[in-house]
Amino acid sequence: MPESDIDYGSERRAMVEDQLERRGIQDSRVLDAMLTVPRHVFVAQHTQPAAYADSALPIGHGQTISQPYIVAFMTEAAQISPGDKVLEIGTGSGYGAAVASQIAGEVFTIERHSKLAQQARERFDELGYENLHVVEGDGSQGWPEEAPYDAIIVTAAAPELPQPLVEQLTDGGRLVVPVGTRHSQKLVRAERSGDQIQRTPLTAVRFVPLVGEHGWQRQ
Ligand code: SAM
Repeated sequence: MPESDIDYGSERRAMVEDQLERRGIQDSRVLDAMLTVPRHVFVAQHTQPAAYADSALPIGHGQTISQPYIVAFMTEAAQISPGDKVLEIGTGSGYGAAVASQIAGEVFTIERHSKLAQQARERFDELGYENLHVVEGDGSQGWPEEAPYDAIIVTAAAPELPQPLVEQLTDGGRLVVPVGTRHSQKLVRAERSGDQIQRTPLTAVRFVPLVGEHGWQRQ
């Protein structure tokens, strides 16, 4: 059977049971989304057999598709509901945005590498995911034209909460972002309530740097 015809359904079910449910992911919408989105479509053909492994994988340009557990953890932390407007910074392969799109009303995602943005757009078209919008640019500045967002997920590490993203949250909106040094970070959920921001540290993580005006100056 050609590699492209393999459905990987049993690998996907095993990923959800062994890597997500067993480690405490509980939101049934997140679990269903991870069961639905074909992760192997978001990696290069030669790495497809490893797509459901418990690890991040290279996607070119020195970037990675995050470990399945981290994608699930961040999506759950963002507390996305049907109808929500979501912004993701760091499209990468497009997988995380695709997972969010199974739950949210609309997902906007920004990637600084034009080739990755284009590839993700092609994957969304191929899969018929119509509520996803990709743009190339510096996501540390957000996407003000479409703001405000119910949830913003940043999949690259920032030195501090990027202020434009905080400002683009709805009242009650959640920002999930790795904050720390270039080499190690804490995943933080920041919830906006009026002018107040409540920060909750979640778990230790390690992401590639957010490169931009409100991130790091270089990769
Ligand atoms: N969500 C991705 C996925 O599911 O494949 C994983 C993303 S990868 C860990 C982080 C991505 O953030 C990289 O593709 C990188 O190019 C991108 N990135 C870094 N700084 C950025 C910025 N300022 N704006 C947009 N994208 C950025």
